[in-house]
Amino acid sequence: MTAAVKRLAAECGLTVSAVTTADAFPDLADHLEQHIAAGRMAGLDWFTNERARFSADPHNLQRSAVSILSVGVAYWSIDPGKPDDDVPRGRISRYAWGVDYHDLLKQRMRELHRAVEELVGRPVEARHLVDTARIVDRAVAARAGLGWYGKHTCVIVPGHGSWVLLGELLLDLELEPDPPLAKDCGRCRICLDRCPTGAIVAPYTVDTPRCLSYQTIEQRGAIPLEIRPLLGDWVYGCDVCQEVCPYTKAARPEPDPAFLPRSIANAYPSLRWLLSMTENEFRATYRDTPVPRAKRRGLARNAAVALGNIGTDDDIPVLVTAVNDHDEPLVRSHAAWALGQRGGRSARRALDRVRIRDADSSVREEAEAALSGTN
Ligand code: SF4
Ligand code: SF4
Repeated sequence: MTAAVKRLAAECGLTVSAVTTADAFPDLADHLEQHIAAGRMAGLDWFTNERARFSADPHNLQRSAVSILSVGVAYWSIDPGKPDDDVPRGRISRYAWGVDYHDLLKQRMRELHRAVEELVGRPVEARHLVDTARIVDRAVAARAGLGWYGKHTCVIVPGHGSWVLLGELLLDLELEPDPPLAKDCGRCRICLDRCPTGAIVAPYTVDTPRCLSYQTIEQRGAIPLEIRPLLGDWVYGCDVCQEVCPYTKAARPEPDPAFLPRSIANAYPSLRWLLSMTENEFRATYRDTPVPRAKRRGLARNAAVALGNIGTDDDIPVLVTAVNDHDEPLVRSHAAWALGQRGGRSARRALDRVRIRDADSSVREEAEAALSGTN
């Protein structure tokens, strides 16, 4: 039965699957609470101690659950690369190039659920979970032996590295549990050393407020000054700790067409365009992908910072337009910072005007600070 369920999972487009019981995870809640108490989850206000306790016992989600099928979809796809066109471009995290994985995984899990019911000849009570704080998908995947925890805290799946999106099916069905994998990172610490912000503060510990994935996607306000220069050209997420991992580099999975970027703007968008895009352009370009989570103003804010980092004097006009005319104060203030990074007479002239005239005090303060060279 277990082998047949895994075969069906593969036929439904779920690249990997493994089984664990629906038993509680005894040490997980304490571990998560320590993480919260240490401020490592600061900013993710919805991740409370109550949430941590709830997520440590799958029976809180489904009383009848007996087994959990941990599933993963490999999202590696062909990298189109940054075009060689002299346009300053940002980088979007690989998982967000193509379709929204929540929808994709849920659709494939629903298909699998139906197929399992046909296989066993009875209705099967099940929950389909993707990226929910109500269960810790990495803990499930590790206990099921789907993969093992890397020091960057992603799960590394043999043959695929960490380019795998995880989901779980809670089932009222007795399946044979798989053993956890006897693997670890050994003495490697490449991801700790290469993280641009030093967010991997210790093996298996990411300080969320320092992580660019958090800063570019989840954080709704101003990006802290000390993080901005470290953001480089990332405008949505960050893949550095995954890209440098030898296990992920060595993986040669089959590309899934669902994760190919629809256009270059879905992987390497022009920073100038991001700064001026309309809401309609944003929706049309990033519809059905994970990117709308950052919202148009978040993406434009990140583009301003990236232009401050990798732009040239040729980008000053677009930054001046943004600092004067962008409808979002958050974007105007980050454009002011970027102009301070670029410097030069026209940048200073624009900052001087904004420092006095902008209706929003945060923009005036950023312009003032940029002029006085304090940021
Ligand atoms: S996603 Fe980027 S910033 Fe976050 S831990 Fe990994 S390398 Fe560091
Ligand atoms: S880079 Fe090295 S330490 Fe980091 S997850 Fe990969 S193997 Fe582990």
